[in-house]
Amino acid sequence: MMIRDDLSIGVDIGGTKIASVLINRKGTVLASDYRMTEVEMGKQETIKRILESIHSVYTEEDSISGIGIDVPGLVDPREGIVENAVNLGWDRVELRKELQMALGTKVPIFLQRDTYAQALSEYYYGCARGEKNFVYLSLGSGLGAGALVDGKLLQGANRSALEVGHMVLPGLKALCSCGKTGCVETILSGPGMLRTYQDVSWQAQIPSALSEKKDLTLAEISAAFTTGEERSRALFAEVSHYAAIVIAGILSVLNPSLVIIGGGTGLAIYDAIQAQMKAEIEQLTWKENVRNVRIEKSSLDSSALGAASLVWYGMTDNQEHQIFQEVN
Ligand SMILES: [Zn+2]
Repeated sequence: MMIRDDLSIGVDIGGTKIASVLINRKGTVLASDYRMTEVEMGKQETIKRILESIHSVYTEEDSISGIGIDVPGLVDPREGIVENAVNLGWDRVELRKELQMALGTKVPIFLQRDTYAQALSEYYYGCARGEKNFVYLSLGSGLGAGALVDGKLLQGANRSALEVGHMVLPGLKALCSCGKTGCVETILSGPGMLRTYQDVSWQAQIPSALSEKKDLTLAEISAAFTTGEERSRALFAEVSHYAAIVIAGILSVLNPSLVIIGGGTGLAIYDAIQAQMKAEIEQLTWKENVRNVRIEKSSLDSSALGAASLVWYGMTDNQEHQIFQEVN
């Protein structure tokens, strides 16, 4: 495979926005673009916007090593297919083929699930630099994760490894968007925290300074928490508890040296939950699996950095991708 100059394009496709960057190996952002997805306009319109976004950061083809794309959903990176992305309303979309044809380029395109890509950006540019075994947890509209295990991106048989948000745990009773009851993302997510705070049984039992408020936000609950408001304290205690259960399970199974918490909600609540969460993790985990583990919040703020990192990973570490590119 011809190695071009060291620039990479990353495109993070979300349910609400498309973010693109052009970066060098050091992670310096040389160009960026941000536009709305507007999923309701349909798949072809979304693909058109992805192409426009790529074009807006594109530079001379010879200097680009590859284009990395990440999506919120199930992906077949080898075939370049988005198998299922509920937030985009996509079902089996041959995204790589469509983009390659429309762009008319031989520049390799790498496709991956968003949380896996974000884990790679932590490896190249975040607090996981040099770590071969770490887990990245993303709390946002749901709960997702990605991990490197012995230096390799963990994907699983159906490429849905670390689908931790849909672990059903005792004590949770809310209906999840997946159709099951009691998935942990019904509390470990932005919408989950809001829903729990406003839960009818909590309304009856735990006083709130905000209960009359319409269109309550997580920022308002967080602000109330710092004043010692009772229901927000109860909420953050529950969130800490369930985060500890999830992380303790991950530590026992994968034995990482580092757990990174990211995502908009994760970053917003990290300081409030970390003390109780870490104490419970110690209680729930065998001492050898919790020894020397670092738990930190993400320091990265560009989701597209993860997509761009797919190019570096695809070029150097992932033989499957490299072979695919050589035969095509
Ligand atoms: Zn679920």
